[in-house]
Parts: sequence; structure tokens; C-alpha cells
Amino acid sequence: MDMMKALVYEKPGRANGSVKMIPRPVCGDNDVLMKVMACAICKPAESSHDRTTGSLMGKYPATPGHEFAGIAEEVGKNVTDIKVGDYIIADNAYPCGHCYYCKSNRPMMCENYRCQGHNMQGGFAQYMVCRSDNVFSFSKDIPFDKACMTELVNCASSAVNFAEIKYGENVAVFGCGSSGNLIAQLMKNSNAGTVVALDIVQSKLDRVKPYGIETVLVDPDDFSKHEAVLKEMFPHGIDVIVDAVGDDGPLLESNMKLLSAGGRLMIYSFFYFEPKTFHVDAGLMIRKGLKLISCPLQGYNFGNCIHDIELGKVDPGTIIDAVYPLDDYFTALDRVLNEPGSMKMIIHPND
Ligand SMILES: [Zn+2]
Ligand SMILES: [Zn+2]
Repeated sequence: MDMMKALVYEKPGRANGSVKMIPRPVCGDNDVLMKVMACAICKPAESSHDRTTGSLMGKYPATPGHEFAGIAEEVGKNVTDIKVGDYIIADNAYPCGHCYYCKSNRPMMCENYRCQGHNMQGGFAQYMVCRSDNVFSFSKDIPFDKACMTELVNCASSAVNFAEIKYGENVAVFGCGSSGNLIAQLMKNSNAGTVVALDIVQSKLDRVKPYGIETVLVDPDDFSKHEAVLKEMFPHGIDVIVDAVGDDGPLLESNMKLLSAGGRLMIYSFFYFEPKTFHVDAGLMIRKGLKLISCPLQGYNFGNCIHDIELGKVDPGTIIDAVYPLDDYFTALDRVLNEPGSMKMIIHPND
């Protein structure tokens, strides 16, 4: 049996995670075997294993990693559109196709959701098997370190789609971490007019400035400062505010008050494991016709997103901090968890 190196958590918690040898997955007739060249650490998902809150879909042993890119090492005999040696990414989601939501065209709400890096083997491994209809090839001019973040761009693209941006609308993105950064870039390339990004860390704002995005530093102890700046910039209010902060309460409440009439507040942040609450002024919502919306992270948009990376319309390169071999996974994870201003650490399983 061919073996490979992989990160494996026997159960949640760092003490139960290690890099070890496991059997290499076998490429079926309709599959592509990917040699994983780059897999990015996703802070909310990967810290959940480490902090014992557990895998998103609760299945152990788990090999996480859902942001991956690599080379087609082997293709099944029924696969015609992908060739050995192609540079590839893959949609990591496997909706079942036959549940109520799949059959009513809402596959992101699938009741039997399977997902690589959550309840299927992920990319912190030397190889993974992907169903060929989930696989997309891309230009060899694009580094794997950028291409592996197509999944993140795909999620961010949902923010544009679900906010239903109309021509010229102004947009504020709160939180300029890796998701907020990409959302701001995509908004800037959408129909939107002015796009402003806000964060409490100046270095995060500096990473979006080159893309024509306005920036405002937030004082976490005094929201009145950024509120005043935004009121000056947008006297009639902000049409779309995306919350990509992951904080609860006061900021969301402040943001509701900054919306224009007909404005939308999108909760993009990954509130998954714990209930988060904030107060909504229902009277204000009715008087101003406001909408409160969430954002399903899976957008089934991988093909368009890798193409936009190829075109340079969105640049995930700006959020990369460092690259590590798989053996140094926990060093990289610690930087993501503990270093203020850090964004993406990329793992190279085959280095
Ligand atoms: Zn992620
Ligand atoms: Zn389903």
C-alpha cells in the first residue's frame, strides 16, 4: 500500500494531532489524484480542532485543510477534461444531490453535507482524491500559494452576490482579515461605487490600499471616531455594510445605524460554534427599509474565482505571510492564532 504524510487529529485538541504516515487515497475511475502543493491555514476552521471545539462536521480521525491546490498526479479512466500534470484546484464541497435542499437548488444547505477538510480528508496531506467534476485546471503562471486560496475567494464572492450590489452603491467592509481583504477587493471589482475597509489594525488596512479601496482605522474603545468619518464620507449612509469582524454586539448595533435607507447589513463572520446575539431596532429597520442578511460561504463559484485570480482581478497574494513544510504545521498555526495582524500561513505538504 502506498503511504503518504498527513496531519491527523485522532480527536479534537493539539495533543491528539500529529503529522504521520497514513495510506495514500486511491484514485477512482471518475477521480483525480492531486499531489497537494499548497494548503492554506483557515483560522476559524483549523483553530476549532486545536481548541477542542471540534471539526465542523464532527468526524474523527480528521485530516483538515480545505484551501488547497496542486498537480494532477493521476486521473481516472473516465476523466477527459483533466490531464496528468495539470495545475488544479477543486471545490471541496460534496452536497448529496438527493436531500430536500439539494433538490430545491440550495445545495449549500445540504442535509448530508460532505466536505474535504471537514468530514472528508483535507489538504494537509501529500495527496488527496477529488471527484473530477469538482476539479478545475489553471494557468501554470499562477503560483500554488495563490491558487490554493480560490476557496476563500469563492466564499468572498458570495458576499458580493448575496448583498445584491447595484451599480454605484457604496460599501463598507468591517474587518480586514483574510476574508475581509478579499471581500473588499471583490466589491471594488463589482458594480459598487466607493468601497471602504475598516479595521483596528493599520497593517491590515495597508494591504488593501493598493487596490483603490478607502481605509478607516477603528478605535475599539471609541466607535464615535469612525462613525464620524463615515458620516462625513457618506452623508446619506452606507448602502451595504459587511461584517467580517467576528465580534458581536456593539459593532453590529453601531453598523445598523450607519446604513442608508434601503441599506443591507451582511453578517459574514463565522459565528458557528457559539450563539452570538445583538439588539436590532425593529422600528429603525421598518422606517428605513433595512435588511439584515447572512452569507452562505459556499458560492459554487470556483471556476470564476480561479479565472479572476488568473486575470489579476483579485489578488490573494497580498494576504500571504509565510510558507511552512507540513512538519511545521503547528508552528504556522501558532502564528495565525497569536500574532496580531497575521493572515495566511501556507503549508507545502510535499516540501
Ligand atoms: Zn476556510
Ligand atoms: Zn443534499
